Amino acid sequence: MSRHFFLFLSKNKALNKSAKKWGLRLGAAKVVAGVTIDEVMQSIQQLNEQGLKATIDHLGEFVTEREEAENAGSACLDILEAIKRNNIDSHVSVKLTKLGLDISRELCMENMRSILDVAKTNGNFINIDMEDYAHYHETLDILLELRQKYDNVGTVMQSYLRSGLDDLDPLQGIPLRIVKGAYQEDAAVAYQDKEDIDANFLCMVEKHLRNGGHTAIATHDHTIIEAVQTFTRENNIPTEQFEFQMLYGFRQELQHQLADEGYTFRTYVPFGQDWYGYFMRRLAERPQNIVFAVRGMISK
Ligand code: FAD
Repeated sequence: MSRHFFLFLSKNKALNKSAKKWGLRLGAAKVVAGVTIDEVMQSIQQLNEQGLKATIDHLGEFVTEREEAENAGSACLDILEAIKRNNIDSHVSVKLTKLGLDISRELCMENMRSILDVAKTNGNFINIDMEDYAHYHETLDILLELRQKYDNVGTVMQSYLRSGLDDLDPLQGIPLRIVKGAYQEDAAVAYQDKEDIDANFLCMVEKHLRNGGHTAIATHDHTIIEAVQTFTRENNIPTEQFEFQMLYGFRQELQHQLADEGYTFRTYVPFGQDWYGYFMRRLAERPQNIVFAVRGMISK
């Protein structure tokens, strides 16, 4: 089964709808930290106790109903409140299409402003996940508009995009997470070969670090992690200027190893009923994940 097949499945609206009723099936519980806020708080408390910071993602994307987008905004406020109440060390990651971007930019901006106001009061940080290329330029545009008022917001840049390196220019000084990119994009805009994507990843990390911007290196790829460790050491980049990030449930040993070596490490912790698209993208990335998906199916 190929990457394209799972990326195709990830967009299937009927399966996505049914999956919400299934609970965390197909092995999703290995990579999704529960369905409720209480469950995700418990998972993060455990991570914090082990020296790992977190960023919470309330799963869901490509929302087309106004009410759903408004509920998503309120859910983010509840999450910020729960982080404060439970005194846990976690940022929040959001997707603009969950907050109504496909319905209207104004609705999405209203949601973002409410979230950022509360986050600022609580001393928290909001990261805007990068979605597919159809939303890329508008996401960057919204980020720049929000940055005029808020300094507690950043975004994600994808190294599979051919323009990724140049697109860093207007983002100097803004906290960025660098990733390879999780969506299926046309060869006209995105590199298709791992070698090109990896090389661009390193160039983007080095450029943003050299420009003084806080950089999150978000990958499970040990070769890239080692290259970044060498670069930061040789160029005297202070450890406060960067951090490593990985997804919940992936390479836990390496997550702890990096934290034990003294690097800031942040786990991306997704939760919620809307796990289907996220889970399919993880299957697309790494076919080995199918093994625990099948085990999950059998044990149900
Ligand atoms: P891959 O290219 O998948 O793997 C490279 C190599 O690493 C493999 O060949 C293998 O040797 C090793 N490896 C990888 N996984 C494992 C494993 N589980 N066990 C053992 N070895 C392994 N994408 C977006 O488009 N937008 C986002 O906003 C976004 N946010 C993200 C946030 C975080 C914290 C992370 C970690 C990823 C995010 N992604 C996002 C997903 C990202 O774009 C990639 O799709 C995903 O991380 C897979 O690429 P990779 O860098 O981990 O390396």
